[in-house]
Amino acid sequence: MNTSCTSVVGFSISGLATYIQLPELDFCIDMGECPLSATSLNHVFLTHAHGDHARCLMRHHSLRKMMGVERESVYYMPERICDGARDWIRAEAMFEGVPENKFRYPEIVGVSAGELQFLEHRKDLALEAFEVKHSIHAMGGTIYHYKKKLKEEYLGKTPDEIIKLRESGTEITREVYDPLVSFMGDCMGESLLENQRVFQSKVLITECTFLAPEDYEMSHKKGHTHISQIADALNRMGDQVKCEKIILAHFSMKYSEKYIREMIAKEIPEKFLDRIVAFI
Ligand SMILES: [Zn+2]
Ligand SMILES: [Zn+2]
Repeated sequence: MNTSCTSVVGFSISGLATYIQLPELDFCIDMGECPLSATSLNHVFLTHAHGDHARCLMRHHSLRKMMGVERESVYYMPERICDGARDWIRAEAMFEGVPENKFRYPEIVGVSAGELQFLEHRKDLALEAFEVKHSIHAMGGTIYHYKKKLKEEYLGKTPDEIIKLRESGTEITREVYDPLVSFMGDCMGESLLENQRVFQSKVLITECTFLAPEDYEMSHKKGHTHISQIADALNRMGDQVKCEKIILAHFSMKYSEKYIREMIAKEIPEKFLDRIVAFI
């Protein structure tokens, strides 16, 4: 599907696999499977360690090597799971018979909440992670487009005047961070309102595992979001929701496509319905 800042392709069904590719941003959210189309992406963010989100991380790395991609892909993940990931990666390599002296770790970058960092191979994009509530430690994130803009007071100046100002050492630009895509990963519904700035992004990708009214309790118990909580968050945020598209993903595999579409039409407040996209 297309949005104003990137296309969004991939797959996300609870328990099976999640990988959401943003090709124009050179970024992939999670790596529960690794199709060939994901191998060209240089940045991967693991939201948490559950297998359906993480298990093909090393497949991504090794497929790239096999295909002769020289550039090192960068694997971002919550700081707290980095050690576990390294142990797992090493154990897998030993299991596959990689000799000790040939073994190399991929480039793993731990992220902490509220810390802004520029993407390794895309310095015009910056990533900021935030904590969400799930059955294990998990994070979501926002990708910002970074640029320098001329300060308001210099907007009417001629190119000559601008050059003179610059030569005199005057700071004529200001830094602008434009929120493009926010993704929640696996999380409980309340994480949306606890991270309200996600509603400022052009695109919001949020999980919507449970839909049926009788599954409300279960969504809480399993650390997931129920569609009624998304509806509630949208109602509360009202006009503060700036998202052009809100992508619902990670549906439970027990629901049919027809049921998913029916429940979205029934539960989501009408004024937001044209911005909602089901990732199925
Ligand atoms: Zn999941
Ligand atoms: Zn999970």
